[in-house]
Amino acid sequence: MNDLVDLLGLDADGLAQRCADWGQKPFRARQLMRWIHQRGEHDFEAMSDLAKDFRASLAARARVAAPAVVSDRAAADGTRKWLLDVGAGNAIETVFIPEVDRGTLCVSTQVGCAVNCLFCSTGKQGFSRNLDAHEIIAQVWHANRALGAGDPARRARGERPVTNVVFMGMGEPLQNYGATLTALRILLDDHAYGLSRRRVTVSTSGVVPMIDRLRDDCPVALAVSLHAPDDALRDQLVPLNRKYPLAELMAACRRYLERAPRDFITFEYVLLDGVNDADLHARQLLALVREVPCKFNLIPFNPFPNSGLRRSPPERIRRFAQILADAGIVTTVRRTRGDDIDAACGQLAGEVRDRTRLAARRARATGAAMGAVGLAEAR
Ligand code: SAH
Ligand code: SF4
Repeated sequence: MNDLVDLLGLDADGLAQRCADWGQKPFRARQLMRWIHQRGEHDFEAMSDLAKDFRASLAARARVAAPAVVSDRAAADGTRKWLLDVGAGNAIETVFIPEVDRGTLCVSTQVGCAVNCLFCSTGKQGFSRNLDAHEIIAQVWHANRALGAGDPARRARGERPVTNVVFMGMGEPLQNYGATLTALRILLDDHAYGLSRRRVTVSTSGVVPMIDRLRDDCPVALAVSLHAPDDALRDQLVPLNRKYPLAELMAACRRYLERAPRDFITFEYVLLDGVNDADLHARQLLALVREVPCKFNLIPFNPFPNSGLRRSPPERIRRFAQILADAGIVTTVRRTRGDDIDAACGQLAGEVRDRTRLAARRARATGAAMGAVGLAEAR
């Protein structure tokens, strides 16, 4: 079974290559793509315009299989969250956020995350592994099927519930570049999901070299998680900043804009009470982003157990937003969606078999720090 190639993870070139290997013409790849992604079909026997012997040989070599659903929850506001089993004790989360004019799916790219931002529940769990492209696309495939079920007419018209995809679930997409790129190509492909570049957003904590590669390979909308106006604070909140400091990140954003489908970068900024939410921080931000056309998306911190952090009070959030807006920057405060089912930003935890042994390392580091204090006192 494990030798079967999962066709969910093959983009147009990958599928054409496979079809060639199997002695099939290139248009077979396009037919397959339409069956799989547009009609949500997984049973090769049902793909009625494929020759019978091709269908049989596909069944022997390939499969179309999404991870099993461990749980499926709906929030009061219509947000849906699925927990998907990706094997070996690992599970990932996918969230669908319905709005009047669109349906946004928030997908995961890794089991856990190695960046370890101070305020993020996924980061706190450590890192297990990258997802394959088929596991990223399976989230979209599954959501469309789950949400479109019971409406064959709508499906036949090619209408799909997921109109926008944001790479803002578990993981850092630009630390899983290959699979993210393949998934993006499938999302944009007219024979698959046919989404425009503006409707697909990659969110990154700032992996500078990979921002440049994305610009060259497949420039979709870009969101950058900023969270602090200076390196000293950002080093604490987003440890990756020690490798790629703010000046480099801002320069990468400017380069990205040369090819981006939108003429701005979205900066995400989680507001943490007493940490990064003072008027001074807002004014420093204005100086930092002076040369980067941008919008700001302020995210009230979503708490999780033992975070030790608090959400900024509403009046502080309003004031912070006002300072940015008064300087002419379009600023929105993200409405918290699905928090009654822990589906809000930063609350996605899934199940992570931590292979970085983060928790153990942290405990040792705390122990060492306490030891050092003890030593100093003894002197
Ligand atoms: N790794 C990528 C994408 C996933 S995180 C990134 O960091 O950009 C998606 C967004 O959720 C990021 O902007 C992140 O900073 C934010 N986020 C993480 N934890 C949060 C929390 N507890 N409350 C609110 N937003 C959070
Ligand atoms: Fe990883 Fe993003 Fe969470 Fe930071 S905020 S730990 S980069 S998922």
